[in-house]
Amino acid sequence: MQKIFLLGSTGSIGENVLNIVRQHKDKFEFVGLTANHRWENLVSQALEFRPKVVLIGNPDFEDNVKSALEGTGIKVYSQEENLAKLVADTDFDLLFNSLVGCVGVLPTVESLKKSKDVALANKETLVVAGEYVMNLAKEKNAHVRPVDSEHSAIWQCLLGEAEKDIDKLIITASGGPFRTLPREKMHLVTVKEALNHPNWVMGNKITIDSATLMNKGFEVIEAFHFFGNVKVEVVVHPQSIIHSMVEFCDGSVKSQMGVPDMKIPIQFALSYPNRWQSDFERMDFRKITELTFEQPDFEKFRCLQLALDCMETGGTSTSVLNAANEIAVESFLKEQIKFTQIPELIEKSINEHEFSAHPNVEEVLEADSWTRNFVKKEISKIC
Ligand code: MG
Repeated sequence: MQKIFLLGSTGSIGENVLNIVRQHKDKFEFVGLTANHRWENLVSQALEFRPKVVLIGNPDFEDNVKSALEGTGIKVYSQEENLAKLVADTDFDLLFNSLVGCVGVLPTVESLKKSKDVALANKETLVVAGEYVMNLAKEKNAHVRPVDSEHSAIWQCLLGEAEKDIDKLIITASGGPFRTLPREKMHLVTVKEALNHPNWVMGNKITIDSATLMNKGFEVIEAFHFFGNVKVEVVVHPQSIIHSMVEFCDGSVKSQMGVPDMKIPIQFALSYPNRWQSDFERMDFRKITELTFEQPDFEKFRCLQLALDCMETGGTSTSVLNAANEIAVESFLKEQIKFTQIPELIEKSINEHEFSAHPNVEEVLEADSWTRNFVKKEISKIC
């Protein structure tokens, strides 16, 4: 039995992890489950899977969770700030990190410090602290397993290959809901339109990031760290059938394909190095009439260009990029700012912040909180 500590168990990735474990109850048990505000879901998950600990991020719901789980022997904790300590203090074999936001960084670090593998669905870990985290993993001989479909694809393409033979990674992007929208209409985009992704069903924050292509920018930065500082390119592939590719030194290209369903990469992160039988939907090539590719529009999708620039600059700039985006997207979802103001606010933060080239985790988190305050102030000027 492998003991899993699942962070973010009520989100869309977390729910999928639970569904897969339900099919493989002989292989896994949960020792910890955490949620931010969906306390009722957390309680019913806890009653079903009987972990040793649960944590509810929002302290307003702590009493509800405590009374619902009274007499079960499950220990209840609260507040997101306690996640890292709880990870440090709990015994497990694999940390499955599907937290959204910068709050996911420290729990990953704590798990690696204990030489425990991390299945990483939290983007911010590698976006803001990639260099530090991957060095720590190497030092502690722990593995960071990709969960995102693009990185899982590259990971699968690289099995049995030597790192020195990679020429470049090619990350595919669906292009989001505004791929064909004229550039001059981008400022009119509404929250409802931005939340309507053509191929994937995901949480709100990541759906907006997919509409701005910031999500793709983050994925390029993550890939750069995951796979050892290699060249990464983005190509728009609207059908989302090829999940990413690797080009090797002899000119050969490998791709990984599948129906756009997160269950496949999530299961692979759990089953690695094996594959398990599944009843997931299969590809039917007789029904696929075309696979197309195009160059991304970097001017229309300014967020993607900003992310690539920050990857080149490195240091604290990716931390600023991420934090500014998080606050700007939050305000866009509350209809406080326009869609096109998201990259404007990010760019302003990048230009204003005090850059540090080789930050440690503390400095990265400092840049993060400086940026949050800066962007909030900027937004209050607009509203
Ligand atoms: Mg992805």
